Amino acid sequence: MSHDLSTTTRAVRAGIATDREHGAVVPPIHLTSTFAFEAFGKPRTFDYTRSGNPTRAQLANAIAELERGAGAVVTNTGMSAVTLVLQLVRPGDVVVAAHDCYGGTQRLLRALAAKGHFEVRFVDLTANPGPQTADHRLQAAVLERARIVWVETPSNPLLRITDIRGVVAAAQNAGALTVVDNTFLSPALQQPLTLGADIAVHSTTKYLNGHSDVVGGAVVARDAAIHAELAWWANCLGVTGAPFDSFLTLRGIRTLFPRMRQHELNAAAVVDALTRHPAVASVNYPGLAAHPGHEIAKAQQSGFGAMVSFEVVGGVKSVERLTEHLRCFTLAESLGGVESLVAHPATMTHASMTAEARAAAGISESLVRLSVGTEDPADLVKDLTVALDAVQAALSRQPSAGPVTRSVAVRGTAENPRPRTDVVLLGVGAIGRELLSQVTAFGAAFRVCGLIDRSGYVFESGGLGPERLHELRSLKERGGKLADASGGTRGSAAQAVEDIGRAELWHPILVDATAADTGSVLDAALSHGWDLVLANKVPLAADLGVSERLHRKARLHGRRILFEATVGAGLPVIDTLRKLQEAGDTILSIEGCPSGTLGYLFGELGRGRGFSDAVRSAVAAGYAEPDPRVDLSGLDVARKALILGRLIGFEGDLHNVAVESLVPRELVNVTQAEFLERMGEGDAAWRARVDAARTKGVVLRYRARATPTSVLVGLVEVAESDSLGSLQGTDNQFSFASERYRAQPLVIRGPGAGPAVTAAGVFNDLLKLVAEWRRTPREPVILRKRSDRGIPVAAGGRADR
Ligand code: PLP
Repeated sequence: MSHDLSTTTRAVRAGIATDREHGAVVPPIHLTSTFAFEAFGKPRTFDYTRSGNPTRAQLANAIAELERGAGAVVTNTGMSAVTLVLQLVRPGDVVVAAHDCYGGTQRLLRALAAKGHFEVRFVDLTANPGPQTADHRLQAAVLERARIVWVETPSNPLLRITDIRGVVAAAQNAGALTVVDNTFLSPALQQPLTLGADIAVHSTTKYLNGHSDVVGGAVVARDAAIHAELAWWANCLGVTGAPFDSFLTLRGIRTLFPRMRQHELNAAAVVDALTRHPAVASVNYPGLAAHPGHEIAKAQQSGFGAMVSFEVVGGVKSVERLTEHLRCFTLAESLGGVESLVAHPATMTHASMTAEARAAAGISESLVRLSVGTEDPADLVKDLTVALDAVQAALSRQPSAGPVTRSVAVRGTAENPRPRTDVVLLGVGAIGRELLSQVTAFGAAFRVCGLIDRSGYVFESGGLGPERLHELRSLKERGGKLADASGGTRGSAAQAVEDIGRAELWHPILVDATAADTGSVLDAALSHGWDLVLANKVPLAADLGVSERLHRKARLHGRRILFEATVGAGLPVIDTLRKLQEAGDTILSIEGCPSGTLGYLFGELGRGRGFSDAVRSAVAAGYAEPDPRVDLSGLDVARKALILGRLIGFEGDLHNVAVESLVPRELVNVTQAEFLERMGEGDAAWRARVDAARTKGVVLRYRARATPTSVLVGLVEVAESDSLGSLQGTDNQFSFASERYRAQPLVIRGPGAGPAVTAAGVFNDLLKLVAEWRRTPREPVILRKRSDRGIPVAAGGRADR
């Protein structure tokens, strides 16, 4: 067909209107085993269907076009397609195969190798978080005598990704052919031959046919000579596909592209629901940014496909309960049809592997695989949610059920008049104590049930009432320790989270109001299914890998991290940024003064006040840290700017932020007391600098500027009339320049320092989470009668379909 047509068009039109005899629009099906010769010694194009058949040839041409190959051979199963390719290997040759390739392929490779047909080496070729890339693992020794490197990407059932180009480069060096089993994506989403592979293999049983009514296969070769060799072997072995199956498969291919689009949309909706559900421990889908193969998948695929797997909390019992409650996902082997299927790899598709081999491959008893179909995505999401809620409800009836603590809220019952939210506060310093006052004063929509400090914790599952909170707040104000409070327990913060996490909590939220490196504590809280509200900048301004891991974990567990109070105290800075981004705007830069202390300081200097005097007032008012060098060093502003920068695409760490410190070098390492005493030594110099600015008609401001490529923090001179120049008191200011607000940046300005303002920001984030939880409460759980259907346990050696 003409090459100026798109592949979508070519898929639809393959063989259409080619019938010369009757003009049939849909090509007729040639159900015949043999063909009459034109005359003695004059066979026609086709003589016998094992060797060739017009209907099968039409299908082969269509698949070859979609895969951009020189030719395709259509076989009667996917496994016969694999068998056919292995005819290219001779005794003494080596087949290097992906360690997690399809179980049936593994079984065939091992069986043929055991009979001496060739040698097989299984190698991990996938992109994983380990230090080794596929290139590392495909070193010369591994590839010695290799004839074929067998790749399958994404893999089954863990959806791991292999870098096809990387493997091709290594295989070519070693003189080996690269074969890619492209069954999981189809040529609509990945074309291995265009990435350099020599052969693409399909089980057409799956997406190519797409209707679960044919078993078939195909082999596509980039090179015509290899295609000819494969066609010869197909006839010789007798593995060619039947005409009727070919007709159906060609019919399936006509809708391949729209089907794949719908499959993928549905998969995205399903993945989103899975990542949010507390009964789901982890989700494997290359479309998730956190997936180790995400970037490679993005580069070599044109979509992420519709195969998804996930671990359900509670092991095989939960899997059984899940499958009993699903109505739109049929418990069945296979994949790629328009109907959604669910499978339990350990007892179904991968039952033929030994338990050890499954464990080594990462296939646990809790793993569930979905082939997401083309039904209405809302139905699929609802179906899964109801089934997972049933799993969750059962888990919450077992106190030792493990890490899941988010219970199913049943609205309107006598015991639970409305969903409840449990808050645990980490850090009872000035901000923490202020937060507790606000909670008591405003009769919050949540209850505080735990407080944690460096010494230990206090926890009451029924909630800490106003009087108890007052008592504990006073203790902390006096410098006391929670471990010494009545009912206090000694231990680290991580231990406290572990202990409290074991209790039955409702929609728990951990508030981090410390200024410490709490990354591991927050990680533990996410593992227990808690949401996080942070006033603490340290974990978010930690190395990119560390902070990303936190966000990734939250996404995977469907948890939220809100951290408005880390950047703009109580101002809706991140909210605004997110709204702009959601609306499709691109933020070009954020700049301003995100420090109430430094804003106040330079305002006071401008009014003629001495530097050390102004710093002392800032400390006395609680704007600055007790050791004002924390503020003056710019480090605090740098962290805020880094957090904001990362939200708009800056990929650096704190050491990539250019920071101008206001602490004289000789006072960096002295004690706090000495610093406070000697701070005045710099007053005259500051005075001169401020005066010089004034004569130029400008004022000094401490400014942060973040763009997607740089973050800068330091002193600048601005006109007094400038919005930054006219900043008052401890106000913060953030000015967003974006594609849409390019000429006139969007400015947010308001109170920006002190425990009351910061605590109000935290309080606001808490209320946001409570409101979200109320808006999307879980549906009441309807527990259906257990069906008699158990999970079928496959006998060893059963086909991994
Ligand atoms: N390759 C992959 C990736 C598969 O998933 C399957 C079957 O599940 C096959 C090959 C074998 O295909 P068939 O069952 O059509 O023989």
